[in-house]
Amino acid sequence: MREKVYCANCEHCLVVRVFETDNSKYVLRVKCSKKRWAKRSGEEKQYKYFTVARRVQNDCPDYAPMGDSNPFIKNLRRELPVKDEIYSLKEVD
Ligand code: SF4
Repeated sequence: MREKVYCANCEHCLVVRVFETDNSKYVLRVKCSKKRWAKRSGEEKQYKYFTVARRVQNDCPDYAPMGDSNPFIKNLRRELPVKDEIYSLKEVD
């Protein structure tokens, strides 16, 4: 039987900041550093951070667990934002 793995518990699942054009605001996205998330065109795919707990794979050969996925995923689901959020950089004097 294939093992279902949660990407959020894998060391190759990275959170990145994607800035808007004026560089003062950004959103959070997640990506697979092994480039296993791809669009049909072959282009790398990134997902909104708040959806990271939904990223699952069947038996990914590059899965590198960072610990026991239970209760990590359960706690993560509780702590994630409920929607995509826009963050602002603090102005420094
Ligand atoms: S290496 Fe596999 S398990 Fe890890 S983040 Fe990428 S797709 Fe998910």
